[in-house]
Amino acid sequence: MTKDDYLVVGAGLFGAVFAHEAALHHKRVTVIEKRDHVAGNIYTKEIDGIQVHQYGAHIFHTSDQEIWDYVNQFATFNRYTNSPLASYQGKMYNLPFNMNTFSELWGVRTQAEAKQEIERQRASLQLTGAPRNLEEQAISLVGTDIYEKLIKGYTEKQWGQQAKDLPAFIIRRLPVRYTFDNNYFNDTYQGIPIGGYTQIVEKMLASDLITVETGVDFFDNQAQYLKTYPKIIFSGMIDQYFNYQLGELAYRSLKFETEELNVDNYQGNAVVNYTDAATPFTRIIEHKHFEFGQGDAGKTIITREYPKAWQRGDEPYYPINTVKNNDLYKAYAALAKNEKNVIFGGRLGQYRYFDMHQVIHSALVAARKELE
Ligand code: FAD
Ligand code: UDP
Repeated sequence: MTKDDYLVVGAGLFGAVFAHEAALHHKRVTVIEKRDHVAGNIYTKEIDGIQVHQYGAHIFHTSDQEIWDYVNQFATFNRYTNSPLASYQGKMYNLPFNMNTFSELWGVRTQAEAKQEIERQRASLQLTGAPRNLEEQAISLVGTDIYEKLIKGYTEKQWGQQAKDLPAFIIRRLPVRYTFDNNYFNDTYQGIPIGGYTQIVEKMLASDLITVETGVDFFDNQAQYLKTYPKIIFSGMIDQYFNYQLGELAYRSLKFETEELNVDNYQGNAVVNYTDAATPFTRIIEHKHFEFGQGDAGKTIITREYPKAWQRGDEPYYPINTVKNNDLYKAYAALAKNEKNVIFGGRLGQYRYFDMHQVIHSALVAARKELE
C-alpha cells in the first residue's frame, strides 16, 4: 500500500483538474503520464518566442462563468477570436458559414437573399423528418453548394468515412449566421492563454501533495497499481483499460508536420482549412497569429494537420461517436460501473468529443462527487 489517496492516470486537463482539486482537499496524489510532458493534447512549447500548439490549434471558449473564472486562476487570456478561413480550389472563403461566406459564394447582400438561396438548394434533399446524418444536416443548414465546397471534402478526410455515415451533431458544432461575423464560436468567453497552455496544467499540479511521473505507462503495471492505490482516476482509453475485451472502439488519429519558415508571416491567419478532397491535410495553423504576431522577426512556425486511421499504438485524438461506437462505449461504461475504485474521465475515458471547457466541467463534477 501507499500513503497516496489517488493515482491519476494521464496528466491532461481531466487528470490535472482532478489532482488539483484533490490536493485542495488535502489528499495525496500521484499522477502518471506516458508522454514525456504534462498537459496532454493542450501542450504548448515555446520556439523562437512563439507558443507552438504541439497537438493542433487550441482555442479556449465557454459560456460558463464558473469555468471561465476557474481557468483564469491559472493564466491570463488574450482577446483572440477564432476566424478560420477555408481554401477551396485556390479561392478563400470565410468561416464559419455566415453572410461573408454567402456573399463570397453567391454575391448575396442580405439575409433574405441568403436564406432564399439556401432554401432553393436544400429543396433537393426532400427531407421529411430530422436530418439522419452529417450530410443531410449540412445540406439542410447551408445548402448543397457549401456542402460540396466547404464541408464534404474536409469532413471525409477528417473522419476517413463518408459524411452520410457520420452523426449530424458533428457539423452542428459550427455556427450558421446571417450576420457578417466570422467568429467561429458563439460562446461568451474566448481566448488563448498568454504564455501558452502548458503553464495552466503545471500550475494545477504544483502542490507538495502531488507527485508527477512522466514517461510512465499505466499498462506496464496495471495489476500492481490496482493493488497499491485505494482509488484511481483513469483518463486513458476505456477500451484499453478492459484489454479490448468487448472489441475496439474507433478513434481517429492525426499526423502533425511542423515547419519553421524564415518569413514574418506565412498565411496571414492562425487557421486555414483546406476543404477540397485532393489536399491531403485538413488545415495549416500558423502559431504566431494566436498571439497577434508575437515571436522573433523573420520567423514563423506552421503546422500541417493530416488525419489518419488509428491503430493500436497511435494517439487516439478523436473518438468517432457513431451510434455503433457509442453503443460499444455504453457496454464498456457498464463494465466500468463494476470497477468501484476507478473513475473514468476525459475525452478517452468517457469516449466523448469534449472540448476543453467540457473536460474541466466534467472533472470538477467528478472531483466534487468524490471529495465533498
Ligand atoms: P488528453 O489531453 O488526451 O489527456 C490524457 C492524457 O493521458 C494524455 O496525456 C495521455 O498521454 C495520457 N495517457 C493515456 N493513456 C495513458 C496510460 N496508459 N498511462 C499513462 N498516461 C496515459 N478543445 C477546445 O476547447 N478548443 C479547441 O480549439 C480544441 N482543439 C483541438 C484540436 C485538436 C487537434 C484536438 C485533438 C483536440 C482539440 N480540443 C480542443 C480538445 C482538447 O484537446 C480536449 O478537450 C482536452 O485536451 C482533453 O483533455 P483530456 O485530459 O481528456 O485528454
Ligand atoms: N468542418 C467542415 N469544414 C470546415 C470545418 C469543419 O466540414 O472547414 C466540419 C468537419 O466535419 C469537422 C466538424 O465540422 O470535423 C467540426 O469542426 P471543428 O472545427 O469543430 O473540428 P475540430 O477542431 O474539433 O477538429
